[in-house]
Amino acid sequence: MSDLFQDLKNELCYQKKNGAVLWSDEKIQKAFAFNEGYKTFLDHSKTEREAVDTMVFMAKEKGFSEFDAEKTYAPGDKVYLNNRGKSLILAVMGSEPIEKGVKIVASHIDSPRLDLKQVPLYENSELALFKTHYYGGIKKYQWTAIPLSLHGVVIKKDLTKITVCIGEEENDPVFCVTDLLPHLAQEQMKRPAAELIKGEELNVLIGSLSFRNDKESEQVKLSILSLLKRKYNICEEDFLSAELEVVPAFKAKDIGFDRSLVGSYGQDDRVCAYTSLMAALELKTPSRTVVTVFADKEEVGSAGATGLRCVFLKDFIEDLAAMQGKSVRKVLANSKCLSADVGAAHDPTFPDVDEDLNAAKINYGALISKFTGSRGKSGSNDASAEYMGEVRKLFADYDVLWQTAELGRVDLGGGGTVASLVADLNVDTVDIGVPVLSMHSPYEITSKIDVYSLYCAFAAFNQ
Ligand code: MN
Ligand code: MN
Repeated sequence: MSDLFQDLKNELCYQKKNGAVLWSDEKIQKAFAFNEGYKTFLDHSKTEREAVDTMVFMAKEKGFSEFDAEKTYAPGDKVYLNNRGKSLILAVMGSEPIEKGVKIVASHIDSPRLDLKQVPLYENSELALFKTHYYGGIKKYQWTAIPLSLHGVVIKKDLTKITVCIGEEENDPVFCVTDLLPHLAQEQMKRPAAELIKGEELNVLIGSLSFRNDKESEQVKLSILSLLKRKYNICEEDFLSAELEVVPAFKAKDIGFDRSLVGSYGQDDRVCAYTSLMAALELKTPSRTVVTVFADKEEVGSAGATGLRCVFLKDFIEDLAAMQGKSVRKVLANSKCLSADVGAAHDPTFPDVDEDLNAAKINYGALISKFTGSRGKSGSNDASAEYMGEVRKLFADYDVLWQTAELGRVDLGGGGTVASLVADLNVDTVDIGVPVLSMHSPYEITSKIDVYSLYCAFAAFNQ
């Protein structure tokens, strides 16, 4: 009798699968090995610009060349389009005619951080500090009392570009946003958490040594400026045309006695960038042309010339269509997209924010969200049942470990991704990613099994 029920259960009931239980030791080791490259990538790609530089370097090594819309490409040809050093498209030409559609994987390479203001430098109480304006959704209090590094570019008046990266080498100094000691924080601790540290309190400590000249004011600021002049040949006015980003100075590390997790800044969404990059780099000649895009500005609404609201992706596909004398409309209508972005992992410390059946679990594989949005799916790309079916069949055929989830319980959670922007081009699109613990914090956590599963998902999709 119990066997009968077991059979019925196996036949009729849906059960999410835990990769740690399902997979062989060999497969788990393979996943762990894959994550070694991922951690290195994270450490070298802490900003959108650095991510583009890293990816272009890796793509060139694999035979990708700069896209030229005037050229004609053959199946198997590999190209990249670098959009202003802040977003990137890779494409591998397929053997089938372009009007059959292309396969698009779209992730983003910007992450929440603190940006320097345009007039950032000041001295107060004989300490030198930078003013910042935070970028993306952060819990501001998480950014105090941790080591921070400074990345970005300064464009001088003569248009020379100075690249800055300080705080990442073993012997580099780092920077810090200070916080009050508990002894003096009675008043501060009564503030609501959103204001525990206010936006204008995210000031970065950058020095304290004064010139030995007590006649003039602001001797610490001047001393810092003279250091910057010597190291970078810049003056205070040069900050006006700079993009300098303050990010956590930690390196990516294994988390746990069993080393099953990765802890790092910026995994939203560089986990999708790296996994889709690796799937694109290994392609020989796919049947459909594979277009892998890495966008900027997702965390602030995808606006601007490097965000996915911009026409650069559509224009690129239009160029591919024109090469074969086809209209872009027809190509897009037959195209498919995986919109690659992370989701929230179920956190046992905060169980109430989820609804159990539809929460994403660590080690249960790549995470598909049929819809995102909030309060009645508002703002969501809601993938069709037909497209969900196609993806389901694909992952079954290629033995990809995956789960579905939505971000938090109804009327609590929700969020947006670039999915609707690609879908607006008349492309079947669904959201995919991995579950993340402590998402948008300075130290986000993913599972190595999930990261590897996501890579396998992209590899299957690209075939
Ligand atoms: Mn994201
Ligand atoms: Mn995000």
